Amino acid sequence: LPTVAIVGQPNVGKSTLFNRIINQRLAIVEDRPGVTRDRNYAKASWLGHDFNVIDTGGITWEGGRIEDEIRAQADIAMEESDVIVMVTSVALHLTDLDERIAQMLYRADKPVLLAVNKADNPEQRADIYEFYSLGLGDPIPISSSHGTGIGDLLDAVVENFPPESDNKDSDEIAFSVIGRPNVGKSSIINALLGENRVIVANEEGTTRDAIDTPFSTEDGTHFKMIDTAGIRRRGKVYEKTEKYSVLRALSAIQRSDVVLLVLDASTGIREQDKHVAGYAHDEGKGVIIVVNKWDLPKKDSNSAKDFTAVIRNEFQYLDYAPVIFVSAKTHQNLNQLPKLIKEVNYNQSQRIQSSVLNDMLLEASKLVPAPLIKGKRLRVYYMTQVATTPPTFVVFVNDPELMHFSYKRFLINQLRDNFNFTGTPIKILPRKRK
Ligand code: GDP
Repeated sequence: LPTVAIVGQPNVGKSTLFNRIINQRLAIVEDRPGVTRDRNYAKASWLGHDFNVIDTGGITWEGGRIEDEIRAQADIAMEESDVIVMVTSVALHLTDLDERIAQMLYRADKPVLLAVNKADNPEQRADIYEFYSLGLGDPIPISSSHGTGIGDLLDAVVENFPPESDNKDSDEIAFSVIGRPNVGKSSIINALLGENRVIVANEEGTTRDAIDTPFSTEDGTHFKMIDTAGIRRRGKVYEKTEKYSVLRALSAIQRSDVVLLVLDASTGIREQDKHVAGYAHDEGKGVIIVVNKWDLPKKDSNSAKDFTAVIRNEFQYLDYAPVIFVSAKTHQNLNQLPKLIKEVNYNQSQRIQSSVLNDMLLEASKLVPAPLIKGKRLRVYYMTQVATTPPTFVVFVNDPELMHFSYKRFLINQLRDNFNFTGTPIKILPRKRK
C-alpha cells in the first residue's frame, strides 16, 4: 500500500489531522484479535484508495531535542512514505522551524504537499499566503478540528500516489524476518544468505526496494528477502526507537507473502513478541514461528514439545503457523527454512474448486447442524473461494447475522482438515444469498 507521512513542528495539529484521515475510513468490522491500529500508524482509505498513514510526530524518544526530532521525522518521511504532507498552522504563522523542515524536505524525491492547519474561518484562510514562501507549492488550507479542507488535501494526496506497479516476479516468494531486537534476526538472515546462492541485489526500483535481497536455492526456487532496515543497515538515530522498528516491520510485512516471526529460546516469550505477532496476523500473511538460539537451553526429550505448548497458548490466533526450532549459531535446522517458506507459500496460493468445497460443506452440515439463534436457523447454501493469500471464501447464507464466530471457526477447521492450509490464515465472508 502507498504510505503517507505527516510531518511538522509541534502543535500544528498533526495528530488531529492523522485522526481525521483515519476516520474517513469505512468501518470494516473483522474478527481479528491482533493489533489493528497504532496511535501513530494506521490504514486509511479515500475514494477507494487504501493507504497507510504515519504521524511521524508521535515517533519520539526520551530526551530528544526538537532539532533531532524534526530531523528524524523528515528522515522517516523521506524513507518510508510515497507522499509527504507537511503541516503548518495559521495560528503560529510561518516559523523558523517550518522553514527548516521545508529545507530538509527539498531533498525528498517524492511529492510534498503543504497543508496549512487551523484555517477555521475565511479570515484565517486568507492568511495562508505567507506559506507560499516555503517553496512547497500551493498551500492547502485545512481545519483538522472542524474537518474542512481535508477532502481537498486527500484528493491531492491520492493524485500523487505512485502508479500501481506489479513488478513482483510471479515465481518469486517474498518473505521477511521479524521479531523484537536481539532475537537473532540478522544472524538468521546472514546464515540463510550465506548458505544459499545470493544474487547481488542491484535491482532497479525505489530506494525501498533496493535493499531487498533476491536469492535462489539449489532446487531452483526464487526467494526475495524483504529487508526491515535496522536489521541490515544500522546506525540512524531513529532506527533505535521501538516505534520506528514496529513501523519498519509493518511495511516489510505488507510487502511479504510469508513472514518469519523469530522468538528467542533463551528468553522465552515477551510482551513485545506478541505485539509483533499481532501485526503479522492482521495483515493476513503466511506466518512461520521460528524459535532461534535453540543451542542454548538445556534440553530433555520434551523441551520442544513444551515450548510449542507455550507458544500455542500465548499466540492462540496463530494456531495455523508451523513452529520450527533453529540455531543461527550452529545452523541447526536452518536448511529447513526455505522449504517451509515454499510450502506455506504454496498453501496460501491454493485455489479450491467450488464443487469440492460444496461437497465438504455437505459433509460438514451432517456433522454439526448450523446454529439456531433466537429461533432462526442459519442456512448455508453455497461456498466459493474468491481470493488467495490469504485464502478467502465467500459463504452464501440466509442471514449473515446468524453466522457466529463459532460457526465460522467450525468452517475454518473443516477447511483445514480437508486441505493443507498450514501456515496461512483463512478468511470467511458470509453473504446473503440474493
Ligand atoms: P537481531 O537484533 O534480531 O537482528 O539479533 P542479532 O542477529 O543481532 O543477534 C543478537 C545476539 O544473539 C547476537 O549476540 C548473536 O550473536 C546472538 N545469536 C543470534 N542467534 C543465535 C543463536 O542461534 N544462538 C546463540 N547462542 N546466539 C545467537
